Amino acid sequence: EQDKRESLYIVSNYAAKFYADRMWNSEDGKTIGLSYFKERGFRDDIVQKFELGYSPDDWSALLEAAIKDGYQQNFLEDVGLVVKNDQGKIYDRFRGRVMFPIHNFTGRVIGFGGRTLKTDKAVPKYVNSPESDIYHKSNVLYGLFQAKKAIRDLDNCFLVEGYADVLSVQQAGVENVVASSGTSLTTEQIRLIGRFTKSITILYDGDAAGIKASLRGLDMILEEGLDVKVVLFPDGHDPDSYVQKLGASAFKTHIEKAKKDFIFFKTEILLKEAASDPIKRAGVIREVVESIAKIPDAIKASVFIRECSGLLQMEERILISELNKMRLAKA
Ligand code: ATP
Ligand code: MN
Ligand code: MN
Ligand code: MN
Repeated sequence: EQDKRESLYIVSNYAAKFYADRMWNSEDGKTIGLSYFKERGFRDDIVQKFELGYSPDDWSALLEAAIKDGYQQNFLEDVGLVVKNDQGKIYDRFRGRVMFPIHNFTGRVIGFGGRTLKTDKAVPKYVNSPESDIYHKSNVLYGLFQAKKAIRDLDNCFLVEGYADVLSVQQAGVENVVASSGTSLTTEQIRLIGRFTKSITILYDGDAAGIKASLRGLDMILEEGLDVKVVLFPDGHDPDSYVQKLGASAFKTHIEKAKKDFIFFKTEILLKEAASDPIKRAGVIREVVESIAKIPDAIKASVFIRECSGLLQMEERILISELNKMRLAKA
């Protein structure tokens, strides 16, 4: 079993090297793959740091190279790098895509994300490796291996949505950044961050989906006993597009200016939705107190209750009694 996992790591590492080699050293790799990254503003050092690559637009480029180099087809299948169709025909999963190897936090390659270069909406923008014995997407954070030292040193972790966000934010010199990449945030991912810091700052996309996702993430982070702040980007921007367009220093300034405590963030978003409807406003109060009830540390919770009382213009003792009711209901 351990031997098999080791074989899967080895074949995944081989594939990462293959995709990188094809990007840097083949004609189509250079003119299609590498120039795509350059056009997006990614510097060579970042492309190398994340071992990015290019999968040739060919049905079996990886498969053939791997077999020729003595790797077993069944291991390639087990990690989903090659796929068998209904007719039993074997082909490469990733074709004509720029490749983002996914590392575990010790730095071993465990899977891939591949981005299409086509603008055709019918083609999925990203294809990811399937779950395997070495890749469990709910336990993985993209970029953690490259970020973990900075996360510990700075005692904070920026959480973004996508691969490109991680690259651009790193490139701007902000190295404490990871992405949940294609899954909504999980408790395992939060615990993984919790090994390096107790403080998370969410930088999600400035669209409705991003805001919804950050609200969901907030409560889970609070439940794990970590502190959480949120930064919204102007609608239509994600951290990648913002920093690439406006530069590193504007990006950092934006974070400092727009950074909100979870309580301000959640209250503000919900109050906006509720407008002046009194019943909806009461619902907002309940939801915010519900979040506070998830904080394991009672002293922290009472500080938030005070803040919340000011924001919602609601007497503290009423909020406290609500909080206690919720705590009791949970226990
Ligand atoms: P880019 O900047 O390259 O266009 P993005 O990261 O901004 O991509 P989003 O649409 O914001 O893309 O999606 C965020 C993340 O969700 C992606 O980085 C990827 O990990 C995942 N994702 C997006 N689309 C898909 C898809 N079709 N299938 C699987 N995962 C996806
Ligand atoms: Mn988005
Ligand atoms: Mn995005
Ligand atoms: Mn993007």
